[in-house]
Amino acid sequence: MTSNEIGPIIVIVLFIIGLIIFSVRASRISYVKSNSILIGELRSLNSEFTFIKIREYTKYYFAHDTKRKFDRDSPYDFMNRHVYENLNSYKDLTNKISINLSMYNNYLDSYDNLRDFNGQVPDNSKLKEKVFIKYEEMLYRSMKFNSPTTNFFVEYYITYTSPKGQNHYKDCAEYPMNIIEQNIYEIEVDIKKKKTRQYRIKAERSIMTDSKRYEIMKRDNFKCKICGSSANDGVKLHVDHIYPVSRGGKSTNDNLQTLCDRCNMGKSDKI
Ligand SMILES: [Zn+2]
Repeated sequence: MTSNEIGPIIVIVLFIIGLIIFSVRASRISYVKSNSILIGELRSLNSEFTFIKIREYTKYYFAHDTKRKFDRDSPYDFMNRHVYENLNSYKDLTNKISINLSMYNNYLDSYDNLRDFNGQVPDNSKLKEKVFIKYEEMLYRSMKFNSPTTNFFVEYYITYTSPKGQNHYKDCAEYPMNIIEQNIYEIEVDIKKKKTRQYRIKAERSIMTDSKRYEIMKRDNFKCKICGSSANDGVKLHVDHIYPVSRGGKSTNDNLQTLCDRCNMGKSDKI
């Protein structure tokens, strides 16, 4: 045998040894997989959990049609607008993430509890106890689900391209879930405030019944409180909120006065 022939032979021998080790290992793994109570329990636990797929990175673009608008905007402002306009889909996303998180916590608890089945080697095991437990432990670790997506990042781009396409301007920033969540919260507080305001205005206006109007006109002797005209002078009388409802005024007697249509028109929303 020449030294030239030894090289390839060593390679072949090593390859065969590797193959044997690999196949012994594979058959042991498959034996433990089908005979370990722990791994059986883990497989059935894994089949109970499906986490929601979430896109972790997203980009949004906003192209301005003038340089002026581009200069006045910022990626942060664009993020604000985008969250405001797509509030429900952002809420849906954060909701899915919290579902994933709580599901994963449940999973981890159940996973740890499976330790009770640890090392229960079958009586007629064809593997030695030590070997069986070693592979069982390896499988137990490798079959554990990784954490699902529990955060997301959005990149916001604002752009402007000059009419002939000679100049491009771009500004961008990336925000993680917690910043966006803070935004969602602020937007919702704002919406709630607006709703409460609209509700209050409606309630104050509903107090203004015909009998309430009559009561105020009678108190004011059926005369305009500003110019003193009455229906006899050919004017139409109204009951006016001194401090407008739209600005927080109430429909209480001390905030109501009789005005003619001319004076009322001039006053409009003023106090
Ligand atoms: Zn008047």
